[in-house]
Amino acid sequence: MQVSAQRIQANIEKLVSFQTRLTLSAQDPDSIKGGHGIGAAREWIKQEFERYSRDCGGCLEVKTDSFTESAADRIPKPTVITNVYAVLKGTDPGNAGRMVLVTGHYDSRNGDTFDASGAAPGANDDGSGTAVSLECARVLSKLKFPATIVFLTVAGEEQGLNGSNHFAKLAKDQGWDIEAALNNDIVGGDRNPQQDPSVVRVFSEGVPLAATDAELRLIRNLGGESDSASRQLARYVAEVGRTYETGVKPLLVFRLDRYLRGGDHISFNQQGYAAVRFTEYREDYHHQHQNVRTENGIEYGDQLKFVNFDYVAKVARLNAATLASLAAAPAPPAKVRLETKELENSSTLTWDAAPGDAAYEVLWRESSSPEWEHVQTFGSVTRATLPLSKDNVVFAVRAVDRQGHRSLPVVPQPER
Ligand SMILES: [Zn+2]
Repeated sequence: MQVSAQRIQANIEKLVSFQTRLTLSAQDPDSIKGGHGIGAAREWIKQEFERYSRDCGGCLEVKTDSFTESAADRIPKPTVITNVYAVLKGTDPGNAGRMVLVTGHYDSRNGDTFDASGAAPGANDDGSGTAVSLECARVLSKLKFPATIVFLTVAGEEQGLNGSNHFAKLAKDQGWDIEAALNNDIVGGDRNPQQDPSVVRVFSEGVPLAATDAELRLIRNLGGESDSASRQLARYVAEVGRTYETGVKPLLVFRLDRYLRGGDHISFNQQGYAAVRFTEYREDYHHQHQNVRTENGIEYGDQLKFVNFDYVAKVARLNAATLASLAAAPAPPAKVRLETKELENSSTLTWDAAPGDAAYEVLWRESSSPEWEHVQTFGSVTRATLPLSKDNVVFAVRAVDRQGHRSLPVVPQPER
């Protein structure tokens, strides 16, 4: 996969060149022509996706999701917000309905959320994440996958996750089967002395934001606090990180997001989708949500010179490898159940067969362990009994196809 740090650098430079990408900034035709404001950024992203599509014989469908957000806390008057995305449709009719998605927010801000004309370079936050979406689109559009990949860039993040909120609701309304959403926000690898450029944090929700009361009861009773679909996705990213040489190691953080902060993955979580957030190891708060200036010898502002483009490329590689693995993999097994009819010291799992699945793997770990520890392969069956007490471990089942592609694992529901 030819992820290029130079391409990423050029794209972040281009995003910074629009001076500000505040959601409230200019989007009139003259400003778009003049190359400043969020409207110009939006049009450029769209053209960039279209260019990748021309290079792959029109393989990408480039679309916008545009809406008018009413006045709110950080939106003084009704404002048009536009998400821009490209769809690489799956080649297998049986799998094309399954989607995996990567996103970053292309809006930026400085110290004042309402400053529609002051400089807000947003090189790291979130030029870096936008560049990851773009670069994933460029490299993956040269390949073909059975399932569909969506490359998304949203606006309105800094005003209150407005863009992603609209997109995730749209997805839910349309019944889109998004198996995974990867949100990249602040993956610039800020060049501060305490930075660890060998690591990227992956945040995932524990108890799902979208859990129903009945689901919450089950989680409480059975210890499901660390087994949301988002957490399985985070573990999948960790496994991809061990399998592929991306140059950056995912550090799983079992937490929805950082203290006092939020991000676009939350919009997807709220609609019941599995979603995680990638963020550099150590953030420098002088370089986020600040006006560009020097004060007492300290440089403030989200400037290009603080971004480590090689690091962004490594994070893009990890994202692309995760998207490719998931889009090549079979669907996760359906109706995974754990028999709990009687008290016994063995455990029986059942699931529905899916066409094309060559085998199923049962995974398990001790309840106090963060990642899957054991795996046992079963053939093309729909039932497996293991000589292990379900009281002592957590189980999951995943599907494997003939080429060895593995689905996301599914934790069973108890069945009496
Ligand atoms: Zn951000």
